[in-house]
Order: sequence, then C-alpha cells, then structure tokens
Amino acid sequence: MKPLLRWILDSVLPPSCLACSEMVQADGQLCLKCFGSANFVTAPLCDCCGVPLPFTEDGAKAELCSACETSPPAFAMARAALRYDDTTKKMILPLKYGDQSEAAAGLARLMRRPGEAMLQSANLLVPVPLHAARLRQRRYNQAAVLAIALARLTGRPLGLDALRRWRATRRLEGLSAVERREELADAISLRRGAEVAGKRVLLIDDVMTTGATAHQCAKALREGGAERVDVLTLARVADPRLE
Ligand SMILES: [Zn+2]
Ligand SMILES: [Zn+2]
Repeated sequence: MKPLLRWILDSVLPPSCLACSEMVQADGQLCLKCFGSANFVTAPLCDCCGVPLPFTEDGAKAELCSACETSPPAFAMARAALRYDDTTKKMILPLKYGDQSEAAAGLARLMRRPGEAMLQSANLLVPVPLHAARLRQRRYNQAAVLAIALARLTGRPLGLDALRRWRATRRLEGLSAVERREELADAISLRRGAEVAGKRVLLIDDVMTTGATAHQCAKALREGGAERVDVLTLARVADPRLE
C-alpha cells in the first residue's frame, strides 16, 4: 500500500488484534483475551512431525507418533506455533486478502519461537506451492506471504519459486495419511533451475494436517540434492486422524 494511504488508514483505523476486532497497541499483535485463549503447541510432541502426543500415565515419553514410526516423512523435523482451531483460522484469513503485511509480520513473530533453531540453520526458506488455478481463485498463497515475512524478520534467503505444483489436487480433507500421499504423489516437483543442492531448506506453510503435502515437497527438494528439509507452519492440526 502507498505510504500516504497507509498513513490515512492508520489515523482512521486503529490497529486491531490478529484474531478479532479488539484494538491493540500496534499492528500484528494479539489482544490479551485472544493471547490468553491461543492454543500454543506444547510438549509432549512427536520428535519428527511435531504432532502433540498424549501424556502417558507412567511418564514414559513416546518419541515418535505412530505415523512417523510406520512411514517416516522426507522432512527431518516439523514444528508449529499454534494448534489449528477457530482462533488460528481467523488469524490466517487476512493473508488471503489485500494488504496483509502487518498481519503476516505478527504471525511470523509467533512462528519464530518454535522455529528458532531451524531458522538459524536454514540457507533457504521455501513456501509450499499452490497450483496456478487455486492461486488465481484465492489471489494469495498464504505460505508465500508467511515465507516473505519470515525472510524479512530473520534475513534468511528466500526461494519463492523453488517448488511447483503441477496439477490441482482434490481437497485432502477426509483422506487418510496414505490416501493423501497417493493423491499428492508427483503433484509437486522442483522448478527447473531451482538451486537447492547442498542446502538446508526450511519449508513454510500456514497449516499442517497429516504432513502429506510437506512430505511431497521435502521429497522433491531432497531429490534435488537438498541436504536437509525442515518444516515450519503457523498452525498444526492436533489430531489429524480425527479431522
Ligand atoms: Zn483478539
Ligand atoms: Zn510424527
């Protein structure tokens, strides 16, 4: 947005919460009420995909969820800031429309905490791609908006076009993890000329459900020579099997 228009809007519209219409001190913040009700992802978690695990009665710690144990994903580690719920849905919504840079900056700050180590070691931030038809329909790729905000926040290099989604996949909701992997097989590939060989790539997305999309992206990146692929998302579906 042009600075003058921004200035006029700012003087008319006070900054509002990332998840509701409550006024806050600066753009990109959560109000106290939303912060208090935000479901941050907390331990115990799967070491690999980051899905929250149930507490065990004897205190023994399961290290991997059953999905990662039976079919290990192509990424090394995935982490998310929040559990996917009604509040996070509202936080993601502005990324689909118009001027979303302040909201994206606020969300990137929330993602920085769980992603600190991965962000530090990453040589390339890559958003999960949308198919061109879906992109036209939605106007914005939320993953790309978040990757740009994270690159600004941390100074890590950005590989916006490293991956490409060749065909529109049908909606993945309701499909099992195995069905999702099948649906997505070969739907995502490395863009010709993308240089990922020897790099530690951090894949960025808004929401992770079973991790099937992240797995396909990581597979394409690893086949292109990426040394390691991690995943950072704003939100995580806490029990993807119940979705
Ligand atoms: Zn709020
Ligand atoms: Zn797992």
